[in-house]
Amino acid sequence: MSVLDRFDLTGETAIVTGGNRGIGYAIAEGLAEAGANIVVANRDAESGRDAAATLADETSAETRAVATDVTDEAAVEALVEATVEAFGGVDVLVNNAGIAISTPAEEKPVEEFQQTLDINTTGAFLCAKHAGREMIEGDGGSIINVSSMSAFVANHPQKHADYQASKGALEGLKVQLASEWAEHGIRVNNINPGYVETDILSDDPDERRTWLDEMLLDEFAQPEDVAPLALYLASDASSYVTGTSVLIDGGYTVQ
Ligand code: NDP
Repeated sequence: MSVLDRFDLTGETAIVTGGNRGIGYAIAEGLAEAGANIVVANRDAESGRDAAATLADETSAETRAVATDVTDEAAVEALVEATVEAFGGVDVLVNNAGIAISTPAEEKPVEEFQQTLDINTTGAFLCAKHAGREMIEGDGGSIINVSSMSAFVANHPQKHADYQASKGALEGLKVQLASEWAEHGIRVNNINPGYVETDILSDDPDERRTWLDEMLLDEFAQPEDVAPLALYLASDASSYVTGTSVLIDGGYTVQ
């Protein structure tokens, strides 16, 4: 087997939460190009369907869209059931869905704090729980959480107490799931991006200048820059990698 063959996902099935846009879409596209069947799972049904159709048009992948709010356990269970019905199992789960709301910690309503944790952390747990059950019954798999460099450093100047907490929690979730599920052939890893050009970023010029000044590579990442790392972690290329976190931050955290 050549080294490139180890990145091949032909016949594998991947669920990508938030796969309709931004980083999630780029990851879904990368996995589809490598041969995986793709299930796009996000809240907005229309953009999910559009993304699945575009992926099917532009690659040879089989795709589905299942409108899913990752905070709703029944919906997550239905997502995994629909995936198994369509493709026979789940091999890869990308927990990418996430939100970020900037409010100073001293003013942040507890409902806002809770909502961020519900989506960014509990949503990832629920998807891992139900996809993990299928992986345990099947041949194992790969779970990838799109965490953030915010798991390790403060965001500046955003007021992100809840976001940092939610991404920090994904680091603990990752090591625990990797430990509990290694015996089932399930690997669990995190991707920790820096600033990636998507809708989640503020378009305030002062904030953007601050971020650019604080990174080594003087430009924002594009969503497509994250996809190769996701493919590596999804595929046999990373068969000896579990319980780890990989920064892709343009050198932000070494400044
Ligand atoms: P976007 O705002 O472009 O996309 C967010 C995605 O999350 C959308 O697809 C959205 O779906 C989905 N989503 C939000 N809430 C839910 C929910 N309750 N259930 C299902 N899907 C949901 O942001 P990014 O692409 O930038 O973010 C993707 C991930 O990357 C996030 O976890 C984010 O924290 C992380 N990240 C991003 C960085 C960046 O600089 N961009 C840096 C580090 C990490 P819908 O359209 O249906 O609402």
